[in-house]
Amino acid sequence: MTVMGQSLLLHDRRGSVKVLHKDDNMDPSMAMDIDSRSAGNLNQRRDSSHGTPIQRALRTLSIPLERLHVMKGHMIEDMCKGLSRQTHAQAKVRMLPTYICSTPNGTEKGNFLVVELCQSQVRTLLVTLYGDGNLSPQMMYKIYDLPEGITQGEGEALFDFIAQCVTQFLAETTSPDTSSEQYLPLGFVFPFTCQQTQLNKAELLSWSKGFNCSGVVGKDVVELLQAAIDKQARPDKEGEASGGGGWFKSRKSSQSAPSQSRQVEVVALLNDTVGTMMTCSMEGRACEIGMVADKGSNCCFMAEAYLVETTDETSGRMCVNTEWGCFGDDGALNDLFTPYDQAVDEESSNPGEKRFEKMVGTLYLGEIVRHVLIALTAEKAMFTGADAAILKEKGVFTMQHLLEIVNNEDSITEVKRILDALGLQPSERDCGRMQQICRAVVGRAATLHATGLAAILSYMCQTRDLESLMVNVGVEGELFTSYPRFEEIVLSVSRLLAPECMATILASRDGSGRGAAMVTAVALRLAAQRRAVDEVLAPLRLSRDDLVKVQALMREEMDKGLGKETNPSASVRMLPTYVTHTPDGTEKGDFLALDLGGTNFRVLVVRITEAGITMASEIYVIPVGIMQGSGEELFDHIIDCIIDFQTKQNLVAQMLPLGFTFSFPCQQVGLDKALLLTWTKGFSASGCVGQDVVQLLRDAAKRKRHLGMQVVALVNDTVGTMMACGYDDPKCEIGLIVGTGTNACYMEEMKNVGTVEGDQGRMCINMEWGAFGDNGCLDHLFTHFDQVVDETTINPGKQRFEKLISGMYLGEIVRQILLVMTEKDLLFQGKPCPKLQTKDIFKTKFLSTIELNGLALRQIRAILNELELDASFEDSVLMKEVCQTVSLRAAQLCAAGLAAVVEKMRESRGVDQLSVTVGVDGTLYKLHPCFSTNLQTTLKDLAPKCNVTFMLSEDGSGKGAALVAAVADRAANAME
Ligand code: ADP
Ligand code: MG
Repeated sequence: MTVMGQSLLLHDRRGSVKVLHKDDNMDPSMAMDIDSRSAGNLNQRRDSSHGTPIQRALRTLSIPLERLHVMKGHMIEDMCKGLSRQTHAQAKVRMLPTYICSTPNGTEKGNFLVVELCQSQVRTLLVTLYGDGNLSPQMMYKIYDLPEGITQGEGEALFDFIAQCVTQFLAETTSPDTSSEQYLPLGFVFPFTCQQTQLNKAELLSWSKGFNCSGVVGKDVVELLQAAIDKQARPDKEGEASGGGGWFKSRKSSQSAPSQSRQVEVVALLNDTVGTMMTCSMEGRACEIGMVADKGSNCCFMAEAYLVETTDETSGRMCVNTEWGCFGDDGALNDLFTPYDQAVDEESSNPGEKRFEKMVGTLYLGEIVRHVLIALTAEKAMFTGADAAILKEKGVFTMQHLLEIVNNEDSITEVKRILDALGLQPSERDCGRMQQICRAVVGRAATLHATGLAAILSYMCQTRDLESLMVNVGVEGELFTSYPRFEEIVLSVSRLLAPECMATILASRDGSGRGAAMVTAVALRLAAQRRAVDEVLAPLRLSRDDLVKVQALMREEMDKGLGKETNPSASVRMLPTYVTHTPDGTEKGDFLALDLGGTNFRVLVVRITEAGITMASEIYVIPVGIMQGSGEELFDHIIDCIIDFQTKQNLVAQMLPLGFTFSFPCQQVGLDKALLLTWTKGFSASGCVGQDVVQLLRDAAKRKRHLGMQVVALVNDTVGTMMACGYDDPKCEIGLIVGTGTNACYMEEMKNVGTVEGDQGRMCINMEWGAFGDNGCLDHLFTHFDQVVDETTINPGKQRFEKLISGMYLGEIVRQILLVMTEKDLLFQGKPCPKLQTKDIFKTKFLSTIELNGLALRQIRAILNELELDASFEDSVLMKEVCQTVSLRAAQLCAAGLAAVVEKMRESRGVDQLSVTVGVDGTLYKLHPCFSTNLQTTLKDLAPKCNVTFMLSEDGSGKGAALVAAVADRAANAME
């Protein structure tokens, strides 16, 4: 093993960062100027039939702006093709997922080992991060030469060698007894095309760059390296006493020898492009694009994860390795491919492949120039006096020559020296032309890089739903470092092609090494964070068993609630409603309806005719003073509203039957007689609990001498919902509300209703299931967050099931979780958020916005602004996960409740399969993007023998109340 160089300690300093201000960068005339000097005039049409041979050659190498626009479009198309599940297999631009879902945030700390496989060397690094914003990571590195022939030999030998380098490096740079750390995470920089399926799982797709080791293609290279390292760790067992001593150990044997050993684990594999991006993400600036302009060319960027269809990741972002070197392999570059490029391609080891790379990679630029010279010599436009046979020799004109010429613009002597050395005996004119050709070739390479970059910029801007994008681009490679005008050209041309984007170029120093350490560090930070997040959210995640248990408990409580003796001890009240029939479509007449107990108080007139139902309504405000004042005031206010409505609607002269939707738990003793059991939802008017609500309303009418109405029925909103849907679908025998609160009702067999006399027919039961669990039977499910939310309500200990499910509480639960996560440094970098301390500031409608898949970033930002939260992109991804967890649990619990209901109905009807419709109302159910789907999927799973259809109710409270009155009317008539 050769050891090159000494191990040395580097204290890295803040590098020079060019910040380009808008004005510097937007002036199109400057961009045109750059281009006319480097890649020819962009606007000049390429027409190869005019001018001198040299003019024609230069024109062939220059690309008009509109062609660049077209190329950018093709690049975006190919990127989409590479990301799509259907087309990625055929895509030339591979768009490989890297499983790197985060950039550094400066809190990373610890020791990180990096091993990098380079062209002819293996580099090892030990990077120490201090969690100080990564200002000055400490680095030690060593370079080892690859043994002769190893790149063509057996794969095992290569990986053994790499492992030996690691072992030796550690033996020399750290001492086993002074280091307190037993665990060393390792990042592996492996610059070949791999299909990654995890951060630490990567199958080699193909070797390149002269490597061709046997038995590696198709294998997981992380596993190969880990195995080789593990083998080094127990040299005695393997009989290979090489390497750095016995203080290594493998992961598998970690229990057997706890002390005096060190565990090296390959945590991440990455490509050099990704390393470039990650290094530039230090010092507090996010860098989301990495570009390598070197022998080859490649680019990576942070894409929206849901667009990377080749992975299951849907939240957040993932770095995608574009492998754009292959762009054009399907012909997309044909119109830009010159005869010179053609010749270079044909002479390469892989003709037809990596066509973009062959136009821009420094491995090829000298060759392109050589072919231009060959063509011009043949046309007798250059080197007329000399023997130019030397130009036939591959590689005689190097990138080094090219750079010396373009970087010495004023010095003809330099050109002359180089051409003389090649024996070409150039004239002064030849030298001038040589300069022009070199500038054209290298300028074109920069321009094409810019075009690819512009494609990525525009794609990022669009998919992030932004009007403009500001982004940092980490760049590395020979073309960038050795050709000073590269940056200028890339910035100005990409600005012309993607004017909506503002890119800032950051020079990556030692991208692959430091970047790999960063990736490894970020991976560990995320793994630790993931564990902590899972710990916080675990109690909110319900298993199928949990749900089956909830279903069984609900069933138990339902039976208790229906039994005469057991009813008082049941948490689910199972209140009889005296509604015995659902509509059959023959109902008619004009009715008044009241809706009290929802978000708004409304008065309605409902006209039911054979042709259908028409309604008119008015919303009235109930001031908080009245909600929480005396009962008399409340009901007087209601009558005032009714009088106002009837006056406006010209209905004062008639005596209309009135259905009263009253969405509070009542003990009904008849259709028009109902004792209020308790107020909920913020109402607390005195003197009402225990009273007949219908009588309170009639008394108020009497006080106000209002004779235009007759209260016929008191209706719970669940019943109204069921009735309203039942008018359109006779199978609708269940009503469900998931709005501010939650509740359900269903048609029960009279013989099961122990609390009402009679065994014939059915009666609608208002379950009042919001109170499920108030007797403690759900205590095992309540989390710390539920506890805190409950304690801050006006009815602690009450409506416990409702508090897990409905709109009034979900936002609060989320808020409590966010507070705890902030406290645990999992969110907002642990910075306290005063605004988040305010009760009800996190509205349930935010859950809907945040959970809307990937498309609502702008709205999410608006929410974060409203909450005065300084959330990073990752914070919002985590917030989304919290919202999803809370709303999923709500939907699942609701499904478990419903499963108990439908299964009970199926049983009591004695059928194998029950087909039933649920009428549903409530804004949470209607507007949340996943609630209804989650509810339905869970219900199908828990009650597979029931075929349940969900029907959205339109204005159940109004229409339903009138229908209850009408059905009662119909049933009474039928009895006579
Ligand atoms: P109610 O149940 O009082 O009759 P709604 O059915 O309209 O009224 O439900 C109102 C509740 O719905 C609000 O308390 C709020 O929590 C919730 N909500 C409002 N907008 C949304 C939304 N976009 N997504 C989810 N929930 C919402
Ligand atoms: Mg409602």
